[in-house]
Amino acid sequence: MGRVLLAFVMAAALLIGTACAESGTPDADSEFWISGITDELFERIQGKSFKEDCTLSREDLRYLHVLHVDLDGKTHTGEMIVNYHIAEDVLEILRQLYEAKYPIEKIRLVDEYGADDELSMEDNNSSSFNFRFISHTTMVSKHGLGLAVDINTLYNPYTKTVDGERIVEPITGEPYLDREADFPYKIDHDDLCFRLFTEHGFEWGGDWEDRKDYQHFEIPTALIEEWYPSNQ
Ligand SMILES: [Zn+2]
Repeated sequence: MGRVLLAFVMAAALLIGTACAESGTPDADSEFWISGITDELFERIQGKSFKEDCTLSREDLRYLHVLHVDLDGKTHTGEMIVNYHIAEDVLEILRQLYEAKYPIEKIRLVDEYGADDELSMEDNNSSSFNFRFISHTTMVSKHGLGLAVDINTLYNPYTKTVDGERIVEPITGEPYLDREADFPYKIDHDDLCFRLFTEHGFEWGGDWEDRKDYQHFEIPTALIEEWYPSNQ
């Protein structure tokens, strides 16, 4: 390359770089990454999502640093902790959602809500890992294993009818149980989020018969039994 041309290319690159910085458009390649659970991060989750009786090791978990776009098209930084088995898949899904400008309001660690699922869901937060056993069993739940992901939780609530009484989580998600209605963040079979998660092998809670969990994508039980045979 001639010296003049090289100088021109360098000047152009510098200009492009400046333009990006000024418009505040982050470089996606450097913003989507995975790390282990560092000591600093562990301090943030210990006793919260990583509870005292947590049967997983830190090595089972990965931290995802991502970008996401809200309804107004504004870019935000997101953080999520998932199981190492699905870290690459979830990073790829969130990156594709970001590139498609699919709106996700918040992707924060549930620890910012004191690991309280209800508070996190009422705030429309999207998250994955939160250690817990399935009630009255010694089995760790799929969120407890970091093998389920919830997206735009307020607008895609969980519901189940027990003894004729309808349970809704979050409680403030009740208006969004009408899945025929049109509202932002709604996940259905035409939705990009649904398509990407199911392409990556996840099942959607909106397809369940005995209950509906419209926010929820999880790894099938058969695969989890292979990865964690002692979890029963
Ligand atoms: Zn869920």
